[in-house]
Amino acid sequence: MADGQPCRTEATDANIERAGALIREGRLVAFPTETVYGLGADATDDDAVAAIFAAKGRPHFNPLIVHLAEPTQAERYVHMTEAGRLLARAFWPGGLTLVLPRRMDSTVSLLASAGLDTIAIRVPAHDVAHRLLVAADRPVAAPSANRSGSVTATTAAHVVESFGIEVALVLDGGPCRIGLESTVVDVTGDIPILLRPGAITAEALMAVAGHLAAPEGLGGPLRSPGMLERHYAPSKPPRLNAVKAEAGETLLAFGTNAPKGALNLSPSGDLREAAANLFAMLRALDQPSSGRIAVMSIPEEGLGRAINDRLRRAATPAVDTNRERR
Ligand code: AMP
Ligand code: MG
Repeated sequence: MADGQPCRTEATDANIERAGALIREGRLVAFPTETVYGLGADATDDDAVAAIFAAKGRPHFNPLIVHLAEPTQAERYVHMTEAGRLLARAFWPGGLTLVLPRRMDSTVSLLASAGLDTIAIRVPAHDVAHRLLVAADRPVAAPSANRSGSVTATTAAHVVESFGIEVALVLDGGPCRIGLESTVVDVTGDIPILLRPGAITAEALMAVAGHLAAPEGLGGPLRSPGMLERHYAPSKPPRLNAVKAEAGETLLAFGTNAPKGALNLSPSGDLREAAANLFAMLRALDQPSSGRIAVMSIPEEGLGRAINDRLRRAATPAVDTNRERR
């Protein structure tokens, strides 16, 4: 890393308190869970969530898992379904992530759920993770703490090697007990759907839920994990690389050369700010009564690549394979 390494500290009470304060300030903190190390940020802060994507160097946005200290907190952010309640009671705290319908008044960042109407929630069973979530006093969005394309981090040393000082602190809680990512299950409907195999086995889920739809079981071609995740797209395909709005269009602007009065992803041309605003602004402009959205060109660099990836998928929905590349 050109810009040094993040600070690694033992997970003492004082350091966990400090980590919680850093999260509240919008900084990134890596922390251990029983599955893998997570790269955490305040899930209610768009800018902090954008910083996660910037640090991971992912060329696309995928929805992140939102971590909570207690199972009862889930209902503040999502609607708990019957299937969700059943599985949460059996496996929380633990290595199970539940995808649930977002509450209208949910304070979780739209970027954290990649604009979707669902939010993935997990309550980790790890003492340090639990104490950090209590100290942060808010939901923490966290993907696995590795850079895009590298192996998942299961020790603090892995995390330190992968990141620079954009990560404020790495809490060292020793190696992860399970070392495998959480199982992701969609419980928005009556039948739970296994989106990603992981720490909790399909057999264990079946034993509790009675039934479980595997992606392969839904018909059609074989799907890889994560492929069932639908991507958010405005109802009408946006027009890209617009300079100004044509008749019947609303402009989503970017940068300093934007026409006055247009909603602007970042008037100063800051890609992190643009990422933070992307889904909320697309949703704000995507009204049944309004025309199509015309988006100004976004530079294809840094977070701009992930922004353009999402805009291109929205502009050409037929070729969206929903494929996950982690
Ligand atoms: P990671 O954070 O790297 O462990 O990956 C998170 C996993 O959760 C990915 O496989 C995502 O596709 C999945 N996921 C998170 N949120 C959702 C959601 N709202 N709907 C479907 N899948 C999700
Ligand atoms: Mg990962």
